[in-house]
Amino acid sequence: MRIVCITCGVELRCVKSGEASIEGASFGPYKLWHSDRYGCPQCGFEVLAGFSQERIAEHYEPDFGETVKRFNPEVTFFGSLKERQAYAEKSAKRAALRIEERS
Ligand SMILES: [Zn+2]
Repeated sequence: MRIVCITCGVELRCVKSGEASIEGASFGPYKLWHSDRYGCPQCGFEVLAGFSQERIAEHYEPDFGETVKRFNPEVTFFGSLKERQAYAEKSAKRAALRIEERS
């Protein structure tokens, strides 16, 4: 698989292989994945690519929280912008509730 930065006209290189990431849904963390991180040596643009066929773990599994902690993923991504926005809105509402509870 070749990935090219069209802005810089250069092939991305693998920065980290086997990086764990979280696929989020509107309700929160959904699946834990393995993929590789590629970066452009010129502009620093980065992508996750080369995902494993099977997820490492999924939210309904009893040890999901522990598995996520163990892999300590840096990136959370969403299948669509709509899902990402729904997640952000719910997170903002939860944060607002916490502030209300404290005051
Ligand atoms: Zn670039």
